[in-house]
Amino acid sequence: MPQKVIPIRPQSRLPGTKAPRYDGGELADTRGRRMRDLRISVTDRCNFRCTYCMPREVFNAGYKFLPHEAILSFEEIARLAGIFVGLGVQKIRLTGGEPLLRKNIAELVAMLAPLGADLTLTTNGSTLVKHARALKDAGLDRITVSLDSLDEATFRAMNDADFPVVKVLDGIAAAADEGFTPVKINMVVKRGVNDHQIVEAARHWRHSGHILRFIEYMDVGSTNGWRMEEVIPSAEVIRRISAAFPLEQVEANYAGEVAERWRYKDGAGEIGVISSVTQAFCNDCSRMRISTEGSLYTCLFAQQGHDLKSLLRAGATDDDIRDRIAAVWRARGDRYSEIRNAATAKLPKVEMSYIGG
Ligand code: SAM
Repeated sequence: MPQKVIPIRPQSRLPGTKAPRYDGGELADTRGRRMRDLRISVTDRCNFRCTYCMPREVFNAGYKFLPHEAILSFEEIARLAGIFVGLGVQKIRLTGGEPLLRKNIAELVAMLAPLGADLTLTTNGSTLVKHARALKDAGLDRITVSLDSLDEATFRAMNDADFPVVKVLDGIAAAADEGFTPVKINMVVKRGVNDHQIVEAARHWRHSGHILRFIEYMDVGSTNGWRMEEVIPSAEVIRRISAAFPLEQVEANYAGEVAERWRYKDGAGEIGVISSVTQAFCNDCSRMRISTEGSLYTCLFAQQGHDLKSLLRAGATDDDIRDRIAAVWRARGDRYSEIRNAATAKLPKVEMSYIGG
């Protein structure tokens, strides 16, 4: 898709930003990638303690979550989002942490909706029954709900908050009732933990109109003790499901789509697989991330961000901030998933709850 670029009027540079003036020209990084997606973490808090994401041993009573004044306000988020859309972003995802824990989240959705980007949110679904209508009314376009197992014991063990499956199912139903169809349902697969549920999940969501997506367990952050042996490659997921319900591959909706699409040959619907580990998609990665406290990250596996909050709070103009973002994107060369190995997996990385999943 052609890059949408808003011409920028030259303005004086904010002292200390050092970013070169963005010339309004084509915005590509050092590998020729275009910026298209923005993920915004609206809170680093979550009511689940999924063992692969926010393990309780680390995220316990002693863990210091960000204080309110450290996190971006709705006005700051909306301002940044507008600048990103001006630079060509077409899709915005609100995430976290658990985004529905952020107070008055529908107000933020209402502030972002007029930007015209495809506006989506990823949630654990635990409070979706309460929020679905307000999110729809506020202008949210789509919802993704995470649900790692339909088996009660497995799910409760994985979320480590003793949270029941039925409440998430109710949340998905509420979202569908409000017209968020299809709902995308994310299932992270961990060998020996929930892989016995792969075919069961496929069976459950066939014919539902929703899209189940299997995510390879990733070495995000530094707390989940990731090991390659625990990853079930997407190819194995497809093989297992196909043995029960034959599948065929479907073309991507657009270049850079994260999930590979498959459909049931009998017409029962579509599934997706997200293979960040076994089939890295760095090559056409189009994503930027804003952390809960306003740092910009070009990669989920980054070790360092670029502080935008200080710019916002020091009175930078939109042009100054735009220059900074453009400079960060143009300098981007990361391709973590392509070079992942046992050693990189041990590098200290930012936690997913902070950077936004
Ligand atoms: N709380 C929301 C939720 O549960 O969907 C949004 C944030 S969560 C970090 C976003 C997604 O990242 C979820 O689908 C979650 O399962 C996935 N995720 C978290 N840690 C992961 C890991 N180590 N590997 C793969 N996916 C992971």
